[in-house]
Amino acid sequence: MRIAMCASEVVPFAKTGGLADVVGALPLALEEQGQEVIVILPRYKGIDESKFKIQRLKDDISYSIIGKGIKVYFIENNLYFYRDGLYGDKLGDHKDNLDRFSYYCRRALELLKEINFSPDVVHVHDWQSSLIPVYLKTLYANDQFYKNTKTMLTIHNIGYQGLFPKEEFEKMGLPWNLFDIEGLEFYGKINILKGGMMFSDIITTVSPTYSKEIQTKEFGFGLEGVLNKRKTSVFGILNGLDYSIWNSETDKFIAKNYSAKTIIDKVKCKEDLQEYSKLPKDKNVPLFGIVSRLAEQKGFDILSSAIDKICQMGVQIVILGTGDLKYHLIMEDMVKKYPNAISLHLKFDDSLAHKIYAGSDVFVMPSKYEPCGLGQLISFKYGTLPLVFKTGGLADTVNEANGFVLDGYSENDLIKAFKKAITAFKNEKKWATLITKAMSLDFSWKESARKYIELYAKALS
Ligand code: ADP
Repeated sequence: MRIAMCASEVVPFAKTGGLADVVGALPLALEEQGQEVIVILPRYKGIDESKFKIQRLKDDISYSIIGKGIKVYFIENNLYFYRDGLYGDKLGDHKDNLDRFSYYCRRALELLKEINFSPDVVHVHDWQSSLIPVYLKTLYANDQFYKNTKTMLTIHNIGYQGLFPKEEFEKMGLPWNLFDIEGLEFYGKINILKGGMMFSDIITTVSPTYSKEIQTKEFGFGLEGVLNKRKTSVFGILNGLDYSIWNSETDKFIAKNYSAKTIIDKVKCKEDLQEYSKLPKDKNVPLFGIVSRLAEQKGFDILSSAIDKICQMGVQIVILGTGDLKYHLIMEDMVKKYPNAISLHLKFDDSLAHKIYAGSDVFVMPSKYEPCGLGQLISFKYGTLPLVFKTGGLADTVNEANGFVLDGYSENDLIKAFKKAITAFKNEKKWATLITKAMSLDFSWKESARKYIELYAKALS
């Protein structure tokens, strides 16, 4: 099959979160299974020409190659994409995001024609590329080039929908009759993700549990009705992990490579992380790592309430991430109060993320909701046990045999889970069993890619 993958971030070119990991890895796994794939994303400021051996195709189109021969096309437009921040900056979302991503979607569809890549499936991801299925079913409805093309939308987080005021509607170049309950209208606003959901042939999300959760009021962020209507076309496929990037045996960023057989060497990574984080070097203190957006979704509301007590539990905590200012401030206060227990890194730093996955004993990820979550899958591979709330992809992957699960979503439940982890850590034999089990788990892309291929075929049949 010929698959055009369209997304706003793709590893290794541009990343703010798990979406980039997925769209960087899935095409490689599809190629391995004999599919013909191309990828299209905007050319952001940070995408370095020489690092990625970028070649020019047209005035506004360049490309690079990943895998054996997957072309990744970049849509260039300096006005829209040559700036700091993929979606926004310190002041908030970029004000012209609707112009930026509707431009990207239309240019992507024209590009496919220019390069004569008539796709069997256009696979789009999240709101930023959700206008593509809308355009295909409206502006391009009679276009012979796309007459056999089907569309799949993968929702990586239904909390981000691309909401814009009604007044911006004409920017998309769509007829006004689409500003309707059966189209993109959502409580008087434009909802781009909803458009994608209404017009895609198949809708997927990134774990089986989340695919059911988002059909309920509690998790659907107002779109549960739309999903219910389309429920025979909604599927959940768990994300895989790219083990050529996330692997304790080959990772270039960590102090010492190790496997389940040489787990003793993990201590070197722990000491390295303690040194980097200016925490006392002590292998007997349980070290809890966090790599996350500092957001309520990721459990920072209960973590903020519990953090003072946690810092007094004889543990070390290393936090890497950025997010809501209020959480930055709370954690900064804790660093002043407990400098030997907590270390804070308010930035996006890929190499430090690797050091944290390898150097921690426990990976803390008590998300309130979690579409799939990659942090827990990465930490398994590094023999770092995840501590999670049972929701979405976390419920599908973590249990008491490979990590620690909160009984409920509250400050007290979080503290109880920390206590459970500390007790387990002190029992060396039990700890070794848990680690070995975690490291033996396989979340590679092979199986998930096979499921996507099945769904592409279903869309075409
Ligand atoms: P999200 O909801 O943010 O996409 P996921 O768990 O699906 O959450 O994926 C997050 C990805 O982003 C992981 O690969 C994680 O390691 C990475 N990540 C998150 N924050 C940072 C950061 N501050 N620095 C480096 N990597 C980060």
